[in-house]
Amino acid sequence: METHLSSASRPPAAVPAELFARTAQIAADWLRSLDRRPVAASATLGELRSRLGGPLPVGSVDPLTVVEDLARAAEPGLVAMPSGRYFGFVIGGGLPAAVAADWLTSVWDQCPGFYACGPAASVVEEVTGAWLAALLGLPADASFAFVTGCQTAHLTCLAAARHHVLDAVGWNVEELGLGGSPSIRVIVGARRHVSVDRAVRFLGIGRASLRVLPVDGSGRMEVSRLREELAAAGTPTIVCAQAGEVNTGAVDDLDEIADAVAGTGAWLHVDGAYGLWAAASPALRHLVRGVERADSWAFDAHKWLNVPYDSGLAFCAHPDSHRAAMTATADYLVQGGPGQPRDAMDWTPAFSRRARGFAVYAALRSLGQRGVADLVERSCAHARTFADGLAAVPGCEVLNEVVLNQVLFRFDDDRTTDGVLRRVIDSGEAWLSGTTVDGRRAIRLSVTNWQTSDSDIGRALDAFRNAAVEM
Ligand SMILES: *Cc1c(COP(=O)(O)O)cnc(C)c1O
Repeated sequence: METHLSSASRPPAAVPAELFARTAQIAADWLRSLDRRPVAASATLGELRSRLGGPLPVGSVDPLTVVEDLARAAEPGLVAMPSGRYFGFVIGGGLPAAVAADWLTSVWDQCPGFYACGPAASVVEEVTGAWLAALLGLPADASFAFVTGCQTAHLTCLAAARHHVLDAVGWNVEELGLGGSPSIRVIVGARRHVSVDRAVRFLGIGRASLRVLPVDGSGRMEVSRLREELAAAGTPTIVCAQAGEVNTGAVDDLDEIADAVAGTGAWLHVDGAYGLWAAASPALRHLVRGVERADSWAFDAHKWLNVPYDSGLAFCAHPDSHRAAMTATADYLVQGGPGQPRDAMDWTPAFSRRARGFAVYAALRSLGQRGVADLVERSCAHARTFADGLAAVPGCEVLNEVVLNQVLFRFDDDRTTDGVLRRVIDSGEAWLSGTTVDGRRAIRLSVTNWQTSDSDIGRALDAFRNAAVEM
């Protein structure tokens, strides 16, 4: 029997082919503009508010008009982050296969909390998780979760750690919470990423539980101090090591840290947001030697693997603790059990979620093992070229040993450092971010984009030479 919708509630044409074709064209125009456009946004805050703001229209607006208007209004407020000349923070770009798979992820609109909900999305996560473990040298039987980023990956991993170290002293934290529980000590290096502190806070452990260890000049945890700290009375303990300090790229001595932790009952977590990708390169793998000995690993796909935002990963060597910390069930849900298909809901803090596996799968498949290694090695080589070029600029001092893809540098005084950076950004040739190191201003460069070329490095260096002369 035919059902009749009133014309008012009838949905618009099922396949808005013109809308999607036009959107693809807008996307292609944007990508083609990346080499030419200034890297920084050109519009001011006020301009963007007036271009994008105003009251919500009462009536509907045709979708094609909505998209064209949005693209036009947002354009001067967009930063050319996917370009090879964006060197700010640690960002990365979008590999073509990953971007395209990300489009399909939206169109397919799967909600892969459960296998029964999105079978293909679930199996793609299962396959991709195994690929990642093999590529990065993590245990093949580690459990994993596709999450929004390294911040959420820390939350996931440290929730597993919290369960594990409290379970070992007979405290069921999922049941009892933290009120009256044995206290947890979290040992970190002084130059850890702030997202670790935030995860500790979210988990109710609290900042006061952090034991902050001194680090060497490049930001690596002093392992002798870790040994002393671990020898102190045995409260449940989590150690957070780091592969890839945000300014210098320095990697903690993970093998020595794993030696120090071995046999103490402490949980070893690694923040490998971008630095863990060194494990994919035969030439750089030595930097993360021992990483496979950790209990959990948090890292990103949206940075160095060049998957579009957002995409992070949590891996855990103790699936039972991971699952105990994350799983939830209800009568109306349809989870499998052991021997059943993998349900992402057992491993992620999310309930409904985006099918993030598709884009990671596409990135890995399009690069292959060799391609991931090339991407990582090429980025590091560009960073070294940039550092060598900078060292020849009068008044410029490179502050770090360029072990990975990060360069940290400054000019004679803070005024010059900030002035040079301002001029480079205003030139539109490159975008980098500033920081403060040992009380003095400095500039950070990160090469994390698959598109960065010799010519992009040359343009950035020219911009710095010119700015230094102008100052
Ligand atoms: C970027 C970064 C994080 C946070 O990752 P998100 O993906 O932004 O959540 C954590 N640690 C390090 C070392 C990072 O570089």
